[in-house]
Amino acid sequence: MAFELTEEQRDIMDMVREYAQKELKARADECDKTGVFPKESLAEMAEMGLMGLNIPEEYGGSGMDDVTKVLVVREVAKACASTAEALAVHLLVNYIIRANGNEEQKKKYLTMAAEGKLGAFALTEPGAGSDAQGIRTSAVKDGDDYIINGSKVFISNMGPDEGDYAVVITSIKDDQGEKTTAAFLVDRGTPGMEIGKVEDKMGIRAASVSELIFTDCRVPATQMLGTVGQGFKIAMSGLNSGRIGIAAQACGVAHAALEEAVRYTKERVQFGKPISANQGVQWYLADMATQVEAADLLTINAASMMDRGEDCRANCSMAKYYAAETANLVAQKALQLHGGYGYMKDYAIERIFRDARILTIYEGTSEVQKMVISRELLK
Ligand SMILES: Cc1cc2nc3c(=O)[nH]c(=O)nc-3n(C[C@H](O)[C@H](O)[C@H](O)COP(=O)(O)OP(=O)(O)OC[C@H]3O[C@@H](n4cnc5c(N)ncnc54)[C@H](O)[C@@H]3O)c2cc1C
Repeated sequence: MAFELTEEQRDIMDMVREYAQKELKARADECDKTGVFPKESLAEMAEMGLMGLNIPEEYGGSGMDDVTKVLVVREVAKACASTAEALAVHLLVNYIIRANGNEEQKKKYLTMAAEGKLGAFALTEPGAGSDAQGIRTSAVKDGDDYIINGSKVFISNMGPDEGDYAVVITSIKDDQGEKTTAAFLVDRGTPGMEIGKVEDKMGIRAASVSELIFTDCRVPATQMLGTVGQGFKIAMSGLNSGRIGIAAQACGVAHAALEEAVRYTKERVQFGKPISANQGVQWYLADMATQVEAADLLTINAASMMDRGEDCRANCSMAKYYAAETANLVAQKALQLHGGYGYMKDYAIERIFRDARILTIYEGTSEVQKMVISRELLK
């Protein structure tokens, strides 16, 4: 295992850290309070080449590797988890289109994505969460088009005022009439695709999560990604990339919680000395720092395996599982170290604690990650 970052990876990480700490961190509390989607920040990140960071240069992207991607998402999440969620989902959609789109689709959507048009990924349904194979949203051929009916829930980046296109996974019948799956690129404003319930969330409050309703939504056959029968495969093709994206988000949240804990315990005086002078507190901090370091290393290792084209399914799940659980443990402990003040909205740790909670749930719950890891072990 080699973890030496290249000079370019370090430079990009430093540039994003400087931007995120100066701009995004200052907006994070306001974003949380208002729940307003961070459009302005994403536009700035598009200018910096970050919305197209995993898009080849020929489509207007920055052509960066997966290690750089996780470093960027981690730095953004350290400052604002909501913004990191929007970015991570967008980068996942870039990856799916890059891996599965035909030339025309890549030219259109990857160019738009690099310019800052926002992508969404619509798989989950009311009856199909962890068991994604249970999707019921259907696509039926009608001449040169497909008609989509059904609904998707908890879709990030497709709210009333944001989101430009979504990769939508549907069920479909193949030529033999057998039930299988397909994936479609559906643009915002396509008649028959409506935004339904906009979710009111515990954390990552500025990230947008909505229901998507399809009622006789007519989509040209040219909007299908891959072929009939490949929908689930396309969805799964993005999972490794998506999982290290969320692992990176979790690392960022864990770092932020640790930083708040270190700062606060050095400032807070009880019994005539800073609380950080107590060995009990120091041991908490040491445990937290060790867990954060381990999460970072698992995440960067999984990303570098992806860059080398190695089989990293288990490693991506380990990174996502461990980093997400670590973010929760570290945020919980950091809040405890703030005492009563940590429970109050005046302190950043209150928001970080809520932002951490989603990390073990989306992009595959911790239980699902353990299913993937053990399946790889036992095969
Ligand atoms: C804020 C947010 C954003 C999201 N963004 C998107 C998005 O952009 N696109 C998208 O498609 N989806 C998105 N999702 C959906 C998310 O991926 C699902 O919520 C997640 O996969 C879990 O599905 P579920 O909520 O239906 O829970 P369920 O699948 O019902 O699981 C409930 C519990 O049962 C456990 N469980 C289920 N099956 C098993 C099993 N076999 N063994 C052991 N335990 C099991 C789970 O681990 C979990 O603890 C988002 C969700 C949220 C909350």
